[in-house]
Amino acid sequence: MQIDVPTLYCLIIGTTATAAALTYWERRTNTAHRRELGLWALGYLLISVGCALRISAVALPIFLGIGLSNVAVCAGYAAIAAGTLSFLDRPAHRLWTAVFAVLVAAWLAKGTDLSIATRIVVTSLPVAVVMLAVSAALLRRHADVKPLPSQRLAATLFAFHGTFFAVRALVTALWPGTEIALWSTNIMLTMFEGVLWSVSAPMTLLVLVREKTERQLLEASQIDYLTGLDNRRGLVRKAERAFAQSLAADRPLVLVIFDLDHFKSINDRYGHQTGDRVLELFSRVAEAEMRPQDILARLGGEEFAVLFPATEPDAARSIAVRICRQFAATVAEPDGMNIKATASAGLAGTQAAARTLDDLMMAADRALYRAKELGRDRIEQAAPREAIAA
Ligand code: GH3
Ligand code: MG
Ligand code: MG
Repeated sequence: MQIDVPTLYCLIIGTTATAAALTYWERRTNTAHRRELGLWALGYLLISVGCALRISAVALPIFLGIGLSNVAVCAGYAAIAAGTLSFLDRPAHRLWTAVFAVLVAAWLAKGTDLSIATRIVVTSLPVAVVMLAVSAALLRRHADVKPLPSQRLAATLFAFHGTFFAVRALVTALWPGTEIALWSTNIMLTMFEGVLWSVSAPMTLLVLVREKTERQLLEASQIDYLTGLDNRRGLVRKAERAFAQSLAADRPLVLVIFDLDHFKSINDRYGHQTGDRVLELFSRVAEAEMRPQDILARLGGEEFAVLFPATEPDAARSIAVRICRQFAATVAEPDGMNIKATASAGLAGTQAAARTLDDLMMAADRALYRAKELGRDRIEQAAPREAIAA
C-alpha cells in the first residue's frame, strides 16, 4: 500500500473541515460555550483552507500557495488556542495577538523569499509554542475548580502535537540540510501526525464542552434561582463534608431551620414581588451574621436552613438569634422596606458521629413547629433525646 503526501493533505482538509462543521453545529445549541466553539470551528476551518492552498501551490502564485497557506494554518492554531483559553475562563494574552501579527507581517514581506529550512522553522515554532502553552493551561490546577475528567487527555494531545512541531523546528534549525535529505519522511510524518491530531483534538474538545456543560447543569440544579443560595439538594451535598469536619473535631453539628412568620399575609398585602425581596433580604442578613464555615440554604418557599459544622448548640443559637433580630430590624427600617416581619426557628444539635442530615432535619422541624405553636418570632431547641428518637 502506498500513501502519498497529497492523499494525506486531502485527509487533513476533510477531517478539519468536518470538525469545523460539527463544532459549529454544536455552537448553535450550546449557548453557554458559543465563544469557544466558534473559535475552535474557525481554527479548524483556517487549517483546512491553509492545507487546501498548500496542495494547490503549484497552480497558485507563491504568495498564495506558500505565504497565505502558512499564515492560515498558524492563524488556525491561534484560534484553537484562544478558544481553549476562553473555555478555561482565562483571557488570551495580548502578546499572542502581537506575535501573530508580526508573523503575518513577516510572511507577507519576506516569507516567499525564505529558504525551505527557515520556512519550516518559522511556521513550526509558533505552532509548537501555542500548543505547549495550551497544554500547560489545561494542566494548571486551580484551588477552587476541579479539573474535568478529560482535561488531562486534551493536555496530552496538545503536548504531543506541540512537541512534534518543536522537534521538527529544532532538527531543521540545528542540522541544516536534513529538511532536504529527509524531505519525504519529514513531510509524511508531519502529515500523518496531523491527520491523527485533527481527528482526536476536535473530538476531545467537544467531550470537554459536554463535561463542562453537565457540571454547570448539575451545579445549577443545586442553587436556588431567587437568592443564589444552595437549595435543599445543594445542602445535602455539602452536609457530607460538614459531618466529616464535626467528626474530626469531635464536636456536635447543629442545624437551624428558619421559617418566616405569616409570610402568606406579606405576599397578600404587598404583592409577590415584595415577598421575593423579603426572602432575598433574609438571605443577605443571614449571610452577614453567620461564619464562613456555616452553610446557608433555602429549603423552599420561605424556609431557610443553616448548618453549623463543629459547633456547640449554644454558639449556633446565639448566631441564629442575631439572624432573627437583624432580619426583623432590617426589614422594618422606615427608609427601607418598612415591613413588619419576623422569623421563627427550630434548632437541633447532635454528636455528628451518629447522625444523618435527615435525623437532624426532622428534629429541627419539630422544634420549629413548637416555635410556631408558642407564638412565633422565637427559637426553640430540640432536646438531645428528642433528636435521637427521630
Ligand atoms: P407561618 O407563620 O405559619 O409560617 O405562616 P406562613 O404564611 O408563613 O406559611 P404558609 O405555609 O401558610 O405560607 C407560605 C407562603 O410562602 C405561601 C407561598 O405563596 C409563599 N411563597 C412560597 N415561595 C415563595 C416565593 O418564592 N416567593 C414569594 N413571594 N412567596 C413564596
Ligand atoms: Mg413554611
Ligand atoms: Mg412561614
